[in-house]
Amino acid sequence: MLRLAIQKSGRLSEDSLKLIRECGISFITSSLKLKTESTNFPLEILYLRDDDIPGYVADGVADIGIVGENVLVEEGYQALAVEKLGFSKCRLSLAVPKADDYESVQDLNGKNIATSYPNLLQAFLSERGVQVNIHTISGSVEIAPSIGLADAICDIVSSGSTLISNGLREVERVFNSQAVLIANDGLTAEKRELLDKLLFRIHAVQRASRAKYILLNAPNDRIQQISQLLPGIKSPTVLPLAEEGWSSLHSVVNEDDFWEIIEKIKEAGAQGILVVPIEKMII
Ligand code: ATP
Ligand code: MG
Repeated sequence: MLRLAIQKSGRLSEDSLKLIRECGISFITSSLKLKTESTNFPLEILYLRDDDIPGYVADGVADIGIVGENVLVEEGYQALAVEKLGFSKCRLSLAVPKADDYESVQDLNGKNIATSYPNLLQAFLSERGVQVNIHTISGSVEIAPSIGLADAICDIVSSGSTLISNGLREVERVFNSQAVLIANDGLTAEKRELLDKLLFRIHAVQRASRAKYILLNAPNDRIQQISQLLPGIKSPTVLPLAEEGWSSLHSVVNEDDFWEIIEKIKEAGAQGILVVPIEKMII
């Protein structure tokens, strides 16, 4: 049985559970329970505070975990990282009161800065030769300047609206973060095998989330030209339509190239284009 630690309730919880479910792993959740066992995969889920996850995985209390890179690196456990998961993307940034003059990071020399991430901040400033007084606080960092506790803050930002509503301006990006899967470095062979199985499924889900299945109709004399525009996994599937001289082409395209491909294949004579999501993709 593999033990997975995820955040009990917070910004990582929902997407962590969603990923596990998309891997075909079923379990029953209850807000009162601190652990659950899957009904169809040898996995037990522990629900913890996100700050505790790296330490529990390092100690082997949990075998694997899902946590933000910001917390992982702040706590010095980056060696446990196995795989970036692509969700809970955010950044750790420095912000100053909106009205303050700010030209460069050197302007922070000698200032008081409030943060929950003293190590990440210290590393960023040391690299740039800037010396500050760091005040480590565990929450409500963004109000520190307005109550006179600090001249600037270093905190997690995603849209930036919290900063704006507290009269602050983002001036430096200190660290980019996303959710990451971590693992204990002394897993038994059996547990390692289970982790590999889980990773295989995670890769299939991740690949599918960026890929789209595309279907279109085209006159037979355009098939060659359109096929060259559709990358696909191998090459497109071509099926005859009931209408003489026409075919249906099926392929897979990456979300990033999607709009460009659509325009080109329309120009090449494609009609009735359908684009549908893919649930799993194994190649
Ligand atoms: P806990 O009670 O578990 O200690 P917390 O309050 O420390 O929770 P959350 O605010 O739930 O933590 O954030 C958890 C993680 O989610 C952060 O460490 C970060 O990686 C990520 N995160 C934080 N804010 C955002 C955001 N606005 N958008 C996306 N991801 C975020
Ligand atoms: Mg926390």
